[in-house]
Amino acid sequence: MDKRGKKVIKGAVKERIAVLLTEAHASYSAHPERSRRYLQLLWKLVEKYKVCLTKEQKLSFCKKCFVPWIPGKTVKVSFEPRNSIVQYECKECGHKKRLKYK
Ligand SMILES: [Zn+2]
Repeated sequence: MDKRGKKVIKGAVKERIAVLLTEAHASYSAHPERSRRYLQLLWKLVEKYKVCLTKEQKLSFCKKCFVPWIPGKTVKVSFEPRNSIVQYECKECGHKKRLKYK
């Protein structure tokens, strides 16, 4: 496939990913299992098409247990101001993600 064709597909996949993420968050409180399926599907797309998620997208769900991260509900967000680190800890599976912030 030529480069332009690939670009078109990636664009479509990115749109699909954004929709799945929104759906996953919207359905979590009423249908947590459905929400998890959306995120598993999303992750399959990411791996299959090698698309990059934005920083916000990466922080909006757990890629270990596929729960949408809702601060204060499914994820604990804590700050270490001294080291400029923010830590996300999944309340479902305990997966931790630490990032530097500026
Ligand atoms: Zn998790």
